[in-house]
Amino acid sequence: MDIVVSVKQHPLPGETIHGSEPMYSPGGKGANQAVAAAKSGIKVKMAGAVGTDGHGRDLMASLDGYGVDTGSVAGKEGSSGLAFITVDEAGENCIILSPGANGKMYPEELEQVWPAIEGCSAVLLQNEIPLKTTLAAMKEAAKRGQRVYFNPAPAVELPENAYAAIHCLILNETEADTLLGGRLTAEEGDETAAEIRSARTLVEAGVQSVVLTLGAKGAIYADKSGEMIRVKAFAVEAVDTTAAGDTFIGAFAAMRESGETVENSLRFASAAAALTVTKSGAQQSIPVKEEVELFLEGRSFLLT
Ligand code: AMP
Repeated sequence: MDIVVSVKQHPLPGETIHGSEPMYSPGGKGANQAVAAAKSGIKVKMAGAVGTDGHGRDLMASLDGYGVDTGSVAGKEGSSGLAFITVDEAGENCIILSPGANGKMYPEELEQVWPAIEGCSAVLLQNEIPLKTTLAAMKEAAKRGQRVYFNPAPAVELPENAYAAIHCLILNETEADTLLGGRLTAEEGDETAAEIRSARTLVEAGVQSVVLTLGAKGAIYADKSGEMIRVKAFAVEAVDTTAAGDTFIGAFAAMRESGETVENSLRFASAAAALTVTKSGAQQSIPVKEEVELFLEGRSFLLT
């Protein structure tokens, strides 16, 4: 649950300041991505954990409302995962994540998840649960023949043997830097070349494909066959970029799993993310498939 308070300036250590009324907004990377995939028109099951506080109930209700199957979301004694967010007048965020129930999503929990997701073609994972659970889920899903999409956020360096289980690694520039141990950005050279190098290096690490998102600059796709596609972002008036990345990821995975080409999936995901940026909030700002299709009508393909 995102608890958002607007402030004039972020407080300094030891300082007390006044803020606006809090806004409670259902969020979390996994939940946002599940909602984005469901709104893009595919069947989605969510596995994870919420707390026994009131937020858990609200988070589940939000997912249910968007048609996400919450049958594999466990209830844990205590708090749900919370994000305490302050936004200052310049629109700059400060975020404190308190993992709550997410931190108690241990590898043993997966035993109950596998039978429930037996028929799923793909599994989409993030880093808001313990890494050992994510790594165990990745390996088992790959063994079961399910395609693994992985958004390593918040980013941590991964063990080398984790990469082989990943069908598609989707991440932003900061996350790529962390995974690459800061090796590439430290180098001199033009920005585009550095982005392409990052994508290629991650493919070389062993994943089948990589999508590197670049905020308002767009995204780059690279895969094992040597394919490289770069798309521009759609120009929109940015109101709130919260959930833009999650929308892109959920929409891209949904399109690929519906059998769309990489190019069409990138185009759809870019449009969905651009629309999200035009509205405030997280899950409520994510567009449904029809809105994305309407937005795309008559717009040219933004390959570069
Ligand atoms: P990010 O997680 O910031 O890399 O953003 C993910 C995706 O959202 C990008 O690849 C873009 O397609 C889209 N996006 C992010 N910010 C903007 C923006 N200001 N305008 C349009 N699209 C955006």
